[in-house]
Amino acid sequence: MPILPIITGASTPILRTKTKPVPKITKAILGLVADMAETMVAAKGAGLAAPQVSRTERICIAMIGGKLTPLINPVVTWKSEAIEVAEEGCLSLPEIWLQIPRSVEIIVTFLSPEGKKRELKLEHFDARVVQHEVDHLEGKLIVDYAQSKVTGHHEKPL
Ligand SMILES: [Zn+2]
Repeated sequence: MPILPIITGASTPILRTKTKPVPKITKAILGLVADMAETMVAAKGAGLAAPQVSRTERICIAMIGGKLTPLINPVVTWKSEAIEVAEEGCLSLPEIWLQIPRSVEIIVTFLSPEGKKRELKLEHFDARVVQHEVDHLEGKLIVDYAQSKVTGHHEKPL
């Protein structure tokens, strides 16, 4: 299974393209999911969304509870009003680290690679990763949040 090239640049068109829901989980989709997972691990990221590997399917990979989790057609159905701000990086924006406000808790629905409907309530870092990846699926990047740059120690990019 190949490691895919990761697309970079805040104004690169594919990173600004809204993705389309996956109508059916085919072998090709499962292959893409596997390649994305491998690519994220190789890049030492904590999340990866389809546009970052030049694809337009509504698919992302996220580390949830420390576990690599593929999300097909994810939708954030609820966000807490409570917000927390923390540093985020992005595999598509190397060397850029920003303080980004995110809902502390969310509920996300998605399909597993087996085609099972799943719903998870997430908080803190898990909720942050999924919000970051779902932003990618809408063509949104962390530079769209007005913030100042951060220096110093960094966690894994998303
Ligand atoms: Zn990102």
